[in-house]
Amino acid sequence: MNTGIIGAGASGIMAAISAARSGAKVTLYEHSDSIGKKLLITGNGKCNFSNMLMDASRFHSGTDSTGRIGRILKRFGTKECTDFFESIGVMYRERKGGIYPYTDTAESVRSALKLEIYRLGVETICNCGRISIKTGRAEGSGEKSDCSGCLHEINGRRYDRIIIACGSKVAPRTGSDGSGYELLKGLGVKLTEIHPALTPLTVKDDLSVLKGVRCDAYLTLIDASGHAVESSAGELQPYEHGLSGICAMDISGNACRLLGKGERCYIETDFLPRFTDDEVKKIIEDRLKSFPERNLAELLTGIFPKKLIGYLVHPIDTRREGFLNELVNAIKHHRYELSKEMVSDFSRAQTVAGGVPVDIIDDDCMLLGREGIYVTGELLDADGVCGGYNLHFAWATGFIAGRQDL
Ligand SMILES: Cc1cc2nc3c(=O)[nH]c(=O)nc-3n(C[C@H](O)[C@H](O)[C@H](O)COP(=O)(O)OP(=O)(O)OC[C@H]3O[C@@H](n4cnc5c(N)ncnc54)[C@H](O)[C@@H]3O)c2cc1C
Repeated sequence: MNTGIIGAGASGIMAAISAARSGAKVTLYEHSDSIGKKLLITGNGKCNFSNMLMDASRFHSGTDSTGRIGRILKRFGTKECTDFFESIGVMYRERKGGIYPYTDTAESVRSALKLEIYRLGVETICNCGRISIKTGRAEGSGEKSDCSGCLHEINGRRYDRIIIACGSKVAPRTGSDGSGYELLKGLGVKLTEIHPALTPLTVKDDLSVLKGVRCDAYLTLIDASGHAVESSAGELQPYEHGLSGICAMDISGNACRLLGKGERCYIETDFLPRFTDDEVKKIIEDRLKSFPERNLAELLTGIFPKKLIGYLVHPIDTRREGFLNELVNAIKHHRYELSKEMVSDFSRAQTVAGGVPVDIIDDDCMLLGREGIYVTGELLDADGVCGGYNLHFAWATGFIAGRQDL
């Protein structure tokens, strides 16, 4: 079997190793000058490459009507992933569920993958230039005697199987420049709209006064009809134009899906999620009694960071009847309208929502009705939350697509 793989990121490298280990002759095409470039910037250079909790609930997709993401993760779960990395010499450690190389450096993951690629004799063509794909059964034996039954061609070379692993258009300096989408469109594949995901939430308000604050929060994404779409909890990091931090990024893909459809949507922040509205009211009432000399901002001292207190109490006039309810509302139900601009801003995104519908591949990641053409990784319409899920999905789909003996 001759296998040609386009894109040497996480999923393409994994596909190459998996295919070569199962006996294929493999060529790996990469248009940048080296393989696995994006890996180096993952996890702030530490490469959070998988997670102990691995199931489909950690992923978003608009096109997974048959549970394919779950089936892929069942075939290649956390154990299969850590076993694989051990097999290439990468020791690992777990931190809050996330799995990292023991060295805490992405470079050691990339180096171990490279060593395995070389050991297996994968032909790697960096700076490969513009790729052209021809699909369909090649007639006649042609010039390559070892490939008389090949179906497809990459840049004039024949392959039995082609794996398209070009990533998305996030972090283009690493090579993922969106050209994979063009290749697929050229093959007649219909893609769903692509939006940024795992990106900060841009809001219409100016949040400059909150810049630098880090606080606990529970966020809820609310659609135009007031329904809660998704929630997420964790450390929030507001900045001038919006809300950042893992809990904000985790719901950004769905926010962009709504905004992309032209819908308005909102984020409701709960700055004291451990307590109910009534409990928060009681806490403030008790403080009013215990500290009668304190003003409203001083009453909240010790609960929130100073800048957040100023922001919460600023619009509240204690002379107004019901000011206490207003304060509870500001603490528990602060709403921000999301700005449409975030839909077209990929500059801070870590992945994308949308792409090749998961419904048009089979469980081996082969395009339905396109024998021998596979799609893996971030090109697929499956975006995971923070915590090693996107790399895991890239490894899983690469591993499965690469195997020719499954
Ligand atoms: C800043 C940042 C931090 C991240 N941190 C994490 C993390 O800690 N954990 C995690 O799970 N995920 C993380 N991610 C997401 C993760 O990196 C991606 O989901 C994953 O790399 C996708 O793998 P891939 O193989 O599909 O695509 P990529 O890794 O993007 O690889 C695609 C490869 O294909 C090549 N290519 C593209 N087009 C062509 C073409 N036409 N011809 C030839 N070659 C081509 C590209 O140059 C690239 O090498 C992070 C992403 C970013 C941007």
